[in-house]
Amino acid sequence: MTQEIQPVRGMNDVLPAEIGAWQHLEAVTRALLTAYGYEEIRVPLLERTELFRRAIGEHTDVVGKEMYTFTDRGGDSLTLRPEATAGIVRALISNRLLRGQRHKLWCLGPMFRHEAPQAGRYRQFWQVDVEAVGCPGPDVDAELIALSARLWQRLGLEGLTLEINSLGTAESRRAYRARLVEYFERHESSLDADSRRRLGGNPLRILDSKNPELQELIAGAPLLTEHLDPESAAHFEALRRMLDSVGVAYTINPRLVRGLDYYNRTVFEWITTASGAQNAVCSGGRYDGLIAQLGGEATPAVGFAMGVERLVALLVAAGGVPAAVPPDVYVVVSGERATAAALRIVERLRAERPHLRFELNVGGGNFKAQFRRADKSGAPLALVIGDDELARGVLGVKPLRIESGQSECPIEALAAGVDAALAGLGRD
Ligand code: ATP
Ligand code: MG
Repeated sequence: MTQEIQPVRGMNDVLPAEIGAWQHLEAVTRALLTAYGYEEIRVPLLERTELFRRAIGEHTDVVGKEMYTFTDRGGDSLTLRPEATAGIVRALISNRLLRGQRHKLWCLGPMFRHEAPQAGRYRQFWQVDVEAVGCPGPDVDAELIALSARLWQRLGLEGLTLEINSLGTAESRRAYRARLVEYFERHESSLDADSRRRLGGNPLRILDSKNPELQELIAGAPLLTEHLDPESAAHFEALRRMLDSVGVAYTINPRLVRGLDYYNRTVFEWITTASGAQNAVCSGGRYDGLIAQLGGEATPAVGFAMGVERLVALLVAAGGVPAAVPPDVYVVVSGERATAAALRIVERLRAERPHLRFELNVGGGNFKAQFRRADKSGAPLALVIGDDELARGVLGVKPLRIESGQSECPIEALAAGVDAALAGLGRD
């Protein structure tokens, strides 16, 4: 036997059995974002490698060891996007859409990171990305966070908690960084290999370490929130007041630093308390410097990304997935003439009643087998197209989910007959 081709590790198929949860999540999210005035944008999966190096930062895990980078046939270094913000910003710049304009955008699609695959952590995973470009104030940060809180509520997800922090400005972060390096250098012998490596490039990331043996050392480190510049402190204070006023509960996590370098001031993360190691479902923050850093005119911005697989898992666990909708009518076909005529009849019905779902029995089968399929489909009504009926210009009409005999309906009045039969079953 020919050997079967294996899927790529860490990349999943979303099968029809699971798609209901995905579609529900997408529909609720799309409706909510539209209601808040956000517009969809679609950007390429491939970008120049340089974009991510410059945006995300050389010393991050994402750029350092997780990117899918290759040289294309033209000799350019390209990378499968590991996140969406850089590409969206690039699109705003490339299409000359900045010019002091504001943009409220969202994007849905797959991202790629070469991580160690495990539950909730994949090499291709989907994100919903939301970005508000052009507003410097804490009001837009607060509205974005309120939007995410409302999304959990609309999806029926409970037990998500919000952590916030402020990273200050690039300058205040530099000053803090020096103090942090000084502190960790004093304790260098207690650091693990990962943290020692980060000490040179990205010392703030040490605060994010999951190593239990480092927690005490990290707890003693100087706090970023104590080194904020006055404007950032005021921004953070205003954000907290607004969250309080709309009743979005949060905790301040002074060690929340985020894995991408472009953030400043507000950062936040929604965490699930459900068991499992991957607990972040949505994370984001402000990135006022990124657009200028990528060659656009200096424009403040804030955004977040949520992990679709992790949210889908929570949605399924919470029983929040609506049941699949069965067809309205199952069409049973018997006989040679009937088979030849069935498609024409059903296509006419589909044209006349575009809101109804007709499941035509294709691929043959005897009457009994077809009625078994009709029952299994969940349709409330069957139409029976048989040679005898056709000869008399009628079709059989049979309710499926109640005890009832079969009646007949003239072919020329079929659409109205289907309406009446469905209405009689409480399905109009
Ligand atoms: P983590 O701490 O779990 O690695 P992150 O900080 O790298 O997350 P972001 O880059 O902020 O995550 O991406 C936003 C969201 O995308 C995360 O909150 C998470 O829900 C999801 N996500 C990130 N990486 C993965 C992955 N490899 N597989 C599945 N979902 C992911
Ligand atoms: Mg990560």
